[in-house]
Amino acid sequence: MVREIETRCLHLEDEEGCSDNYGAISYPIYQTATYAHPGVGKSTGYDYTRLQNPTREHLEKTVASLESGIDALALSTGMAAITLMMELFEPGDHLIVDSDLYGGSIRLFQNVSEKNGVSFSSIDCCRENVETYINENTKAVYIETPTNPMMNVTDIAELAKITKKHNILLIVDNTFLSPYFQNPLLLGADLVVHSGSKYLGGHNDTLAGFLVTDREDISERLRFLIKTTGAGLAPFDCFLIQRGIKTLGIRMEKAQENAMEIAGWLSGQNAVTKVIYPGLAKHPGHEIMKKQTRGFGAMITFQLESKDFALAVLEKVRMIKFAESLGGVETLITYPVTQTHADVPPEIRERNGITDSTLRLSVGIENSKDLLGELEQVFYEIENNLSI
Ligand SMILES: *Cc1c(COP(=O)(O)O)cnc(C)c1O
Repeated sequence: MVREIETRCLHLEDEEGCSDNYGAISYPIYQTATYAHPGVGKSTGYDYTRLQNPTREHLEKTVASLESGIDALALSTGMAAITLMMELFEPGDHLIVDSDLYGGSIRLFQNVSEKNGVSFSSIDCCRENVETYINENTKAVYIETPTNPMMNVTDIAELAKITKKHNILLIVDNTFLSPYFQNPLLLGADLVVHSGSKYLGGHNDTLAGFLVTDREDISERLRFLIKTTGAGLAPFDCFLIQRGIKTLGIRMEKAQENAMEIAGWLSGQNAVTKVIYPGLAKHPGHEIMKKQTRGFGAMITFQLESKDFALAVLEKVRMIKFAESLGGVETLITYPVTQTHADVPPEIRERNGITDSTLRLSVGIENSKDLLGELEQVFYEIENNLSI
């Protein structure tokens, strides 16, 4: 019987009963670059840390188990993971990508992948008919759901029917919900991307990235590529991400509970013209979320009545930090226009609805009374023009 996901955050079934590592409960950090061979033509299975490292393998097995994949690769950042993924493609290949994506992914596709001969159709995957964009050179569809930052929701299983029919890959960046709330491979995706710097690590202290697949052929190719290009995650960082994953379940639950309260509070504010949170029944993706996820996550995007109001919020928050990134225990507020999405061409930004009065909250695990208390104070000061 497959264990529940909270348990899989803590225990690997295939390592139980083994007496290695002196029974250490916390998996050790193998801080070594290389490994001695017992003799000529013999190996312990470990040759050089770019290729194999026990601490990295332990983490990779954990993440593979959380996503129900057969293999996971741990990389130095989320962008290193997406860069490695792009090595699966060749000049002449065509990819369909969602138009609302993490800004760094758009920058990579436009400035690096295109130079390498890969072309893209950037479309709204949750509203447009993806099939009409598939041509004979199309090799993959790449999406986020919910998207960053507009929280558009795509039906993964429906899209997988199309990609399977045309024998092309479906790749899902699952950073926003983490494997705790959503498992794209179980819905028909072929490859899952994570920025481990976010919910998996969970503490705003370490960068990491993952690629997870349930296909032998993709795993084999990616293993060759990581060994060749060399962006595997360092042992100490593997340890930190592994430790973060242990509490993924309770962190996600608490952050979501807080997010639900804050989304409700924001919805009642006169200065807020729109709250985009898939946990709200009015969100257009709410029903799809209920079908394909176990939760709604803790990311909220909202529009204020003016740019000045948005900037004033950023100036006045104290405990809530004005910073980019997401998915950690501390609540962060982001200004997508100048931070995460600064390099996205203005016309794409506008089409996606990201304006200079859009803010994005990554809700953490503080007591919600304190989060709401601070937001109430900030809004009160702005609405009453107090300068404190
Ligand atoms: C942060 C992020 C990335 C990039 O990850 P890094 O670890 O910062 O390189 C990719 N996709 C999404 C959705 C992200 O939020």
